[in-house]
Amino acid sequence: MSLVEVRNLSFTYPDSDESVLHDLSFEIEANEWVAIIGHNGSGKSTLARLIDGLLSPDQGSIRIDQLPVDNDNLSLIHQKIGFVFQNPDNQFVGATVADDIAFGLENRQISRPVMQDKVQRVLKRVDMVDFANHQPEQLSGGQKQRVAIAGILALAPQLLILDEATSMLDPEGRAEILNLIVELRRESKLSVLSITHDLEEALLADRVILMDKGQIIKVGTPQETVMNQELMASHHLKPVFVRRLLDRLTAAGISAPADVNTSEQLE
Ligand code: ADP
Repeated sequence: MSLVEVRNLSFTYPDSDESVLHDLSFEIEANEWVAIIGHNGSGKSTLARLIDGLLSPDQGSIRIDQLPVDNDNLSLIHQKIGFVFQNPDNQFVGATVADDIAFGLENRQISRPVMQDKVQRVLKRVDMVDFANHQPEQLSGGQKQRVAIAGILALAPQLLILDEATSMLDPEGRAEILNLIVELRRESKLSVLSITHDLEEALLADRVILMDKGQIIKVGTPQETVMNQELMASHHLKPVFVRRLLDRLTAAGISAPADVNTSEQLE
């Protein structure tokens, strides 16, 4: 049974007569990392808002862990999903890093010592224990996103959605986050959906969905999608310079996906 099931999904914004998503269907399995790529305007953020229940489809359905995403189930759905957004500055509510993570736990009716223990554990997991009493504004972009991920881990979701979560980060921050995601997947059953126009991020996924103009153009391994220069160029995505990319991933301690054919690397 798939964790996420999207079936024949179509969507039109209320103030528009042009449909933005056309008959999308795909699944995400438990522990799978799926990247959705596509240039600006292809419908990626709209899809994320539908998965989160912020928008309702014209047609079709979305199920998370068999539960339909609709207004009756939203609080249960939100327990199953954690979102990391593009701008790390927009997601903090606490005065300190520790407060911020505790805030997310406050509705969960757990005692203060259990909460404090959880905060410590997730901070340790993202390697931010030393920053527990810092103000979030004082952190680097990569550190802010790690705190955002810690806040999500504290709530133990089944699906982590990264909506352009690395696109405002410098190369070091991006490597920090991608490395963390790779590790989290290795040690838990977490599924990941990364919505991105960064092909470097997509290269780390198990499967890649290429979207253009609200349609799914291709679903395949990174080798069959991101590495297909012609396919990327014909959908306005910059080709990846694979050798440089693999060097950068290696430097960040991330191993290249097994199916990347290094004999086809571009310089
Ligand atoms: P992406 O995330 O891939 O850049 P979006 O989902 O943001 O794509 O946008 C898909 C299409 O929907 C674009 O043509 C965009 O102009 C349109 N769109 C996005 N938000 C709205 C909105 N609130 N109202 C009307 N049209 C919108």
